[in-house]
Amino acid sequence: MAEPVRAGRRPRVVVVGAGFGGINAAMRLGKMAVDVTIVDKKNHHTFQPLLYQVALAVLSPGEIAQPIRSILRNYPNTEVVMDEVIGFDTKARRVFLKSGAELLYDYLVVATGSTHSYFGKDEWAKLAPGLKTLEDATEIRRRVLLAFELAERQMLENGQHPPLNFVIIGGGPTGVELAGAISDIAKLYMRRDFRHINPAMAQVMILEGSPHILGAYPEDLQASAVRQLHALGVQTRTGSHVTDVQPGFVMVGEEKIESVCTLWAAGVQASALGKMLAPALPCETDRRGCLLVDGYLNPVGHPEVFVIGDLAHFEQDGKQVPGVAQPAMQMGNYAAGRIERLIHGKGEGQKPFRYFDKGDMATIGRKAAVARIAWPFRAHWSGFMAWVTWLVVHIFFLIGFRNRLSVFRQWAYTYLSFQDGVRLIVGSQELPGWNELMEATPPPVDPAVEPRNTSGV
Ligand SMILES: Cc1cc2nc3c(=O)[nH]c(=O)nc-3n(C[C@H](O)[C@H](O)[C@H](O)COP(=O)(O)OP(=O)(O)OC[C@H]3O[C@@H](n4cnc5c(N)ncnc54)[C@H](O)[C@@H]3O)c2cc1C
Repeated sequence: MAEPVRAGRRPRVVVVGAGFGGINAAMRLGKMAVDVTIVDKKNHHTFQPLLYQVALAVLSPGEIAQPIRSILRNYPNTEVVMDEVIGFDTKARRVFLKSGAELLYDYLVVATGSTHSYFGKDEWAKLAPGLKTLEDATEIRRRVLLAFELAERQMLENGQHPPLNFVIIGGGPTGVELAGAISDIAKLYMRRDFRHINPAMAQVMILEGSPHILGAYPEDLQASAVRQLHALGVQTRTGSHVTDVQPGFVMVGEEKIESVCTLWAAGVQASALGKMLAPALPCETDRRGCLLVDGYLNPVGHPEVFVIGDLAHFEQDGKQVPGVAQPAMQMGNYAAGRIERLIHGKGEGQKPFRYFDKGDMATIGRKAAVARIAWPFRAHWSGFMAWVTWLVVHIFFLIGFRNRLSVFRQWAYTYLSFQDGVRLIVGSQELPGWNELMEATPPPVDPAVEPRNTSGV
């Protein structure tokens, strides 16, 4: 059992990470007689399931994120520190921050999530960005939109442009969502916006190493997802291991696949902080660096430390609970409740954590999705019905009434008008590999296609 807190002062709880796990823990702890400090290197909580809509210009960053301070405004016993945690002394119960400050705790909740894994090829990250943060989303938006802008400019200058091939590495939910959304903006939303290129000619391809698209979903939904992707014109290639990523192309074995924009949706590993916490406890990790926790979400021998969400390796019925939002939220809630019981000496006899699976959903494009419903009834849905369910569930779980209202309004507008709101390119106008692709593009075969402007645009 955790040692009792000295009489005369309230127990101190430090929560590291304000994602789904951390913010849920902090909100429940905020109603208890404890002092809570939540530390995050960002000042905002991000609703990651809608990041791809920021990446593909449907929503703006402010609609899917909210300052942590404003979420916890009504919990006077909570304080927010914007800083990066860089280490722990679990004997002295201290957390070390990048700024040099230290925090003391009686109970510690660590929920720093996961990050991309390039399987040891970190140099690919610049060429094939992944999607995890708002910064990633705006960078992907920049690259996707820039490819169309550069193609239009090249048509003016040279009467030719490289094929608009978009390659997405990884056929899990994020890869499928990105592919469907790129296809939607090219074929539906931008079709009347350009004068010299036809955005609908863009080709989107998913390269997946395993034999299945949406490998974690039931077989009927995998097959349905592939059908829905093909109906959108997205090519899917399974069993295709990417062996190299270079500016303007990717390699699958000996095959070279040209790409104006390559996106990474393939691998996930525990957040870097796991590597600092595990030896400090010490605690075993799995192959992705997630910390092994017991039924109470504690690393063995540390009832005062909780590791939750994507950073935790928690097994139920012999299987690892997936790294998605619902388990993270439920774990945050459980850890806070467990801390309350421990403080009141009622830890003995508490039931271990049990993940309550309500199902999974992945959207594929406008009016296209798959859904495995596990509660309140069991069903597999595809197409429009699954898409509507996805919309409702995601609006419901967004934090903040203002965000819910504004996302609802934006979706309704996009759906009815075929316009999406935030196709803004901010930042550099360089696209990795574009110049190489232009050099490799043959001159126009049709003599009627003449450069319109040779002086540059
Ligand atoms: C693009 C995308 C789409 C997704 N779609 C879905 C979906 O449709 N449905 C679903 O259920 N799940 C989805 N997920 C998964 C889901 O978002 C995660 O499982 C969930 O966010 C995990 O919650 P968490 O609290 O463990 O970590 P996170 O929510 O990732 O939060 C971690 C927090 O820790 C902070 N942090 C990290 N390191 C430090 C440090 N050293 N110091 C201080 N702070 C730190 C980060 O800034 C972040 O705020 C998606 C994920 C992504 C990336």
